[in-house]
Amino acid sequence: MREDICTIPISEAFEENDGCPICRMRKTVEERILDYIMGAAMMEPDVRIETNRLGFCKEHLGGMMKKRGRLPLALILESHAKELCDNIFSSSYQKNGLKAKQVHSTCFVCEKIEWGFERMINTIYLTYERDKEFRDLFDSQEFFCLEHYSLLAANSSKKVMRKYYSEFNKALEETVSKYLENLHSDLEKYCSMYDYRNNTENADWGTSKDSVERAALFLTGISE
Ligand SMILES: [Zn+2]
Ligand SMILES: [Zn+2]
Repeated sequence: MREDICTIPISEAFEENDGCPICRMRKTVEERILDYIMGAAMMEPDVRIETNRLGFCKEHLGGMMKKRGRLPLALILESHAKELCDNIFSSSYQKNGLKAKQVHSTCFVCEKIEWGFERMINTIYLTYERDKEFRDLFDSQEFFCLEHYSLLAANSSKKVMRKYYSEFNKALEETVSKYLENLHSDLEKYCSMYDYRNNTENADWGTSKDSVERAALFLTGISE
């Protein structure tokens, strides 16, 4: 499989500055992989070997079913089903069950996303260390979702960011803590608006009206 399918220019995701840039990056990679296996990958036997072995999770098979064209999908699933027929039922009942469980727990798309994603996170650290423009872009993000804040903070290291390790983490933490504090006060305000004393026609909701949706986005990232 071509490696560049799983990598995108990271600054593109940061330039948009609307929601979590890491969620956006992940979504872009995911879409590219889905398009790829339904298109160009049909001509690559090594991809078919992997899709036969790993199969697909519910989310990604669902994503493939939403794409145009049933024949590419049918061809992929035909050879995956053939491999299951040939390999699963060759041992004891219990072992066969475990083999099926193993296939059910893996996904070609998930595996490729993880592979590309890990590299992109590393590229973020490296670019932050080297590129002043990217540092400004990173520092001015509106927010990072909880999952990606934790990922960026937990994996950052002084080995990769010799000069800018502290600046990176300070900026990251400031962005997320400021966002979370505002989110909390909006949620507080939202709850208070259900009090009958505030329940008037001209009640001022401030910035709290979409706070529940924003909290869901912060806590779980992009869902579709
Ligand atoms: Zn995110
Ligand atoms: Zn998957």
